[in-house]
Amino acid sequence: MTTLTNLLDFDPAQLIAYCGELGEKPFRAKQLQRWIHQFGASDFDSMTDLAKSLRDKLKTRAEIRSPAIISDNTSTDGTRKWLVDVGNGNAVETVFIPEENRGTLCISTQAGCAVNCRFCSTGKQGFNRNLTVAEIIGQLWMAEFELRKTKGIEPGPKGERQITNVVMMGMGEPLLNFEPTATALKLMLDDNAYGLSRRRVTLSTSGVVPMMDKLSQEVPVALAVSLHASNDALRDGLVPLNKKYPLRELMAACKRYLEFAPRDFVTFEYCMLDGVNDSDEHARELVALVKDPVVGVSCKFNLIPFNPFPESGLLRSKNPRIKAFSEVLMAAGIVTTIRKTRGDDIDAACGQLAGEVQDRTRVQERMEKMAEYQQKFGANFGRIVEIPS
Ligand code: SF4
Repeated sequence: MTTLTNLLDFDPAQLIAYCGELGEKPFRAKQLQRWIHQFGASDFDSMTDLAKSLRDKLKTRAEIRSPAIISDNTSTDGTRKWLVDVGNGNAVETVFIPEENRGTLCISTQAGCAVNCRFCSTGKQGFNRNLTVAEIIGQLWMAEFELRKTKGIEPGPKGERQITNVVMMGMGEPLLNFEPTATALKLMLDDNAYGLSRRRVTLSTSGVVPMMDKLSQEVPVALAVSLHASNDALRDGLVPLNKKYPLRELMAACKRYLEFAPRDFVTFEYCMLDGVNDSDEHARELVALVKDPVVGVSCKFNLIPFNPFPESGLLRSKNPRIKAFSEVLMAAGIVTTIRKTRGDDIDAACGQLAGEVQDRTRVQERMEKMAEYQQKFGANFGRIVEIPS
């Protein structure tokens, strides 16, 4: 049996090359790409402006297949969460957050995550595997056309676009799955696909410094950084990757990134943990860090009320504390927002993106991957490090 080539795996240049192999001109690739990414077509027969001979060729060699949907839940606030199957018992989550003037899709880039941030339930399930391009872009493809179907909006550029913004903030560290992530980003920005502006696509990283530089050269979208701490001792305990790339290096990388970024600031995400990182003193330390004459960086803060889960041993900061913390930042002239908790009733709130379906048979493979990362990023990579009291 011949394996079908999944066309969702191809960026624009690769699709042109693929059509070339079939003896077709580059403009055919553009047509094909529009059918796939703008009309959500998966049936070659529906692509009526392609020659029948090409459609017949494609039918025997190719397919357009996004990950299968395992569950599809909509919260009372309109947040919609899909759990999608990425094979071998692995599942990842994709979350749509509707707001007044925009619709944001939060997508995953890995099944599980090896970074093991202390406050993140995804990290607690360990690393399963990297997602392919088709599995990453397939989340956007599936969500856009599912949303249109639900609302009765026609596919194609004439129908109202449902997803106006994408954030790579779901499961996984996108920069540890660099190539597929970069390819998916290129498709999001391509005018013959989703045509999103770079400002409307945000990649969130825990701070993989060399890959931040690589991203700035290949596909510089808006950048968010999971900061969560105001000094290295604290951050070492919350985001183990900090031991490899401490704050000064991270800040310097943010500064370099901004030379290429579509926005003139970095968004720092800061998970508010009761009694851990939420004092006025921490806020003042953050101000000093981001305004440091050498490593300081133009930034916004997004304070995230923590979503407690039992294994974390951590609690959400009280609302008045979060407010007081934000006031210290704002008094220093830093734009600060407090993230609204959305989709609580369907476990779609931040840090709750842990797939219910887990692969317990590939432990060996995961351990090997973890060993590889520990060699690259230090012995504490992926371990829970106690926070000094
Ligand atoms: S916060 Fe992000 S980088 Fe950290 S463990 Fe969770 S998914 Fe991984």
